[in-house]
Amino acid sequence: MARCGPALLLLLAALAAPALAGPVPRGSSAAPRSPLDLLDDRTRELAPDMADPLPPPRRRAPKKAPRLVDGANGDPYRLPSSLIPLLYQVELTPNFDTFTFDGNALIIVNCVEDTDTIVLHAKELTIDKDAFVIVDDRMTYFAFAQLKSMTLDKTHDFLSLKLDTMMTKGNRYRFVLQYTGILNDNLDGFYRSSYKTADGETRWLATTQFEETGARRAFPCWDEPSFKARFYIIINHDKNRNAVSNMPIVQSAPNQKDPTLIQVQFDGTLPISTYLIAFIVSDFGSVTNCEGNFTLYARKELLDGGHFSQVIGQKALQLLAEYNGIDYMLPKEDQAAIPDFAAGAMENWGLVTYREEYLIEQDSQNARIAEYMMTTICHELGHQWTGDLVTLDWWSHTWLNEGFADYFENYICNLIKPEWHLRDKGVVYDHQQAMEYDVLETQVAMSSPVSSPAEDSSKFDRISYSKGGAVIRMWEYMLGVDVLKAGMHRYLSIHMFKNTRPEDLFNAIGFEAQKAKVLPDGVTFGDIASTWTEQPGVPVVSAVRDYDKKTITLSQKRFFYAPPNRASLVNQRWFIPVTMTQQASANWDSLKPSTWLWPSKEQTVASVSSSSSEWVLVNPKEIGYYRVNYDVQNWKLLLAALTKKPSDFPPATRSQLLNDALALARGNQLDYSVALPFLNFLKTERQVAPWQTATASLNWMRTKLAGTDVWDKFLTLVRQLTQNAYEAVGYGGAPDHETRYLRYYVVSHACNAGNQDCISQANNLLKSWLADKSTKLDADTSLVTMCHGLRGDDAATNFAGLKAAWLAEKDTKTRTILLQSLACAKAAHLDSLLKETVSSSSKVDQDEVVNLWKEVLNRPEQIPTLFKFAQDNSQLIDSFFKNSSTNSGAVKLMLNCIEQITSTDALNDARRWVEYNYKNQAGYDVLQSAFLDAYVSLDWYRRNYKTVADWISSNV
Ligand SMILES: [Zn+2]
Repeated sequence: MARCGPALLLLLAALAAPALAGPVPRGSSAAPRSPLDLLDDRTRELAPDMADPLPPPRRRAPKKAPRLVDGANGDPYRLPSSLIPLLYQVELTPNFDTFTFDGNALIIVNCVEDTDTIVLHAKELTIDKDAFVIVDDRMTYFAFAQLKSMTLDKTHDFLSLKLDTMMTKGNRYRFVLQYTGILNDNLDGFYRSSYKTADGETRWLATTQFEETGARRAFPCWDEPSFKARFYIIINHDKNRNAVSNMPIVQSAPNQKDPTLIQVQFDGTLPISTYLIAFIVSDFGSVTNCEGNFTLYARKELLDGGHFSQVIGQKALQLLAEYNGIDYMLPKEDQAAIPDFAAGAMENWGLVTYREEYLIEQDSQNARIAEYMMTTICHELGHQWTGDLVTLDWWSHTWLNEGFADYFENYICNLIKPEWHLRDKGVVYDHQQAMEYDVLETQVAMSSPVSSPAEDSSKFDRISYSKGGAVIRMWEYMLGVDVLKAGMHRYLSIHMFKNTRPEDLFNAIGFEAQKAKVLPDGVTFGDIASTWTEQPGVPVVSAVRDYDKKTITLSQKRFFYAPPNRASLVNQRWFIPVTMTQQASANWDSLKPSTWLWPSKEQTVASVSSSSSEWVLVNPKEIGYYRVNYDVQNWKLLLAALTKKPSDFPPATRSQLLNDALALARGNQLDYSVALPFLNFLKTERQVAPWQTATASLNWMRTKLAGTDVWDKFLTLVRQLTQNAYEAVGYGGAPDHETRYLRYYVVSHACNAGNQDCISQANNLLKSWLADKSTKLDADTSLVTMCHGLRGDDAATNFAGLKAAWLAEKDTKTRTILLQSLACAKAAHLDSLLKETVSSSSKVDQDEVVNLWKEVLNRPEQIPTLFKFAQDNSQLIDSFFKNSSTNSGAVKLMLNCIEQITSTDALNDARRWVEYNYKNQAGYDVLQSAFLDAYVSLDWYRRNYKTVADWISSNV
């Protein structure tokens, strides 16, 4: 056995691998896509017309991948567990000239099963095979074995180090790997980001995003959440920058080998999963609280805008500690604003990273962004307990992290700013949106197996976040908040620094629930909870009253908009806590279950005290994750009471009644003539949450009714519904947060429906702004102004001005906003713009043309103009895109338009046109098949159009 020096000295010797020369690869290795493929990614959810686009979700966009293997057993993507990492010491030296970094990792492992091969994760790292050294942890002066071979499996990111000697169970080993990596521009791993100073100088920084599989791009590691270990991070950086990581700095001194560098050593972490490690090397400035334990990092000129996030962050951390009954565990918490960031924020333990706009207040900030900023902080800091202190064992249970973070973002932030009504808004944003997504037959359960990194990513969806948050909120009311808090305290105390599965949570909460005797006899909390986490879908509870016997019969089935292909799915059952309130004794505060629906029982009968002229309401404030359908008489009693005095019902319930009634009508389970009148309470509505629900409903109706005979009357209806609220909130001014938020919805709908005052205001404001862009448009209504300012008296001048502003704009974000607005232009202007952008003299790139099309597709009333453009200009379009996609640009555009055609006549016209013009051409078959799909989707019209049109006609 060859003799060598002590392993620690080896590590500190920092054997520098030669810096990579030459260009650094850009972007991911994914196959290049045609800009036209962007059309396939178009969201099917309409944002309220013209209004600000929704903030990017905290969840990531799922990457589609084939399912390989269910579960961890035999899963080729999971690491063997014969070696368990205990400690890492990782030293990194970023180089901002070559955008690379040198790395040096000392890793101590515990051998739990004899093996001669170390298998761990590494990605895009160049490992110096000759520098590998391994020692037995008890005999650190001697090499334990020689490296026989080193291989990197790029499919699974497995680095395999085969030794000439067997490592034996019960022993510890330490080894050193030296490597170089890439400061990539993928926003994943250890990546580079930049910003421009006021003088136009580009400043580079390096930062991290490791969830779920980015750590392996920064250092070789066991990059699965259950391999928790302690980390000692060391960063060498130049004198113009500073470094920050999860833990405080314990030593900062000139690097002994290269005195031009500062070597910063951070304190060792508590046991932590690799995806929660973070470090930033930048020239950021910082602001710290008086106690010196809560710091904001951002580029220096933005620090003044960090006051709000500093105040909210500290308050949230304190409230979360109180909720969980466990103090925040680390000596400090930092929040950092990163110029380039893929998600909204990331909960790295002790160093949370955010997009700049979600941490720093800006002049142009509207009410929605202010609110998103606050809830993002509560979300990420909530993770410091659920996610960081106690971590899911595998991504199949992503909801264990994200469901709680979503729950906390409303619960905790509501304690800080009750006047923002975040729990009511959460009913719409989490609960109702999750139900909408959960209605798909192919939807997966909150807990569902995942394997490859792409599948891991797919768990960061609305089910893990929004449904997770909604189901936990249901548990809060089902158990009582004190029992849930006690359960959380128990769960976090037992499992801190470890990983958990849902049953660990269920056992801890179940213990407290049993003690408090809050559940029915004979069932555990796990029995109840798992019916929600292990099954996909949303139940609909049928509540049918017997008015003579004064009873209500409750039963359940799975809710679908259309009968599922697997008919038996409707028979799926849950343990459903049923809460009820009645007109005779309305109580909106005592919301414990009065009875239960059991999976094993067909129905439950409960008595009611209300008379036959009084309503009964199941699931007040929509606390249970289910819809409710009543007998028609009870629906009508609810409608009469809601119309007469909406304030008799809390905002969440007003929101719920509208949402349930219209969803049930769409699913053919309630007649539209009963459901549609629920819109009428909007005439007096002044709270944001019901208007959020109404926005989803009205937008869905827009997609169905645009281009039909009743379209003009529908617009009249929307003008009538919004008139009072519009007069109350006005177009401008700077009132309180909630009014500004409400105005965002009301003004959007009013202008879109053709409210003349609204359009005139937009026209004048846009005209003034185009004349002098140094004036600022009101932040909450700026996009409404730019959109509907193109429809008033000065439409032609405003359109020309906005188009010129767009073509001259250099800033990508502003350019996108201007483009969104141009999609609102009047038909003749829009048609000229569409033609100009694909002409031979076009100065617009392909991506932007496709984005313009997408914006128009999101406005149902504009689609006929787009379709006609595609029909009239197919050769121009195809020559612009040079047939860079499987289907030509014109065909792709027509496909997208065809699927949104809303009448049989229009479909027949379009089909005749294709028959005449595309017969025997490429794309003919695919267009034909799109027509067949479109005819099927007209089923809604065949069933409902007459009822809907009649009701609208008789109500305007
Ligand atoms: Zn989260």
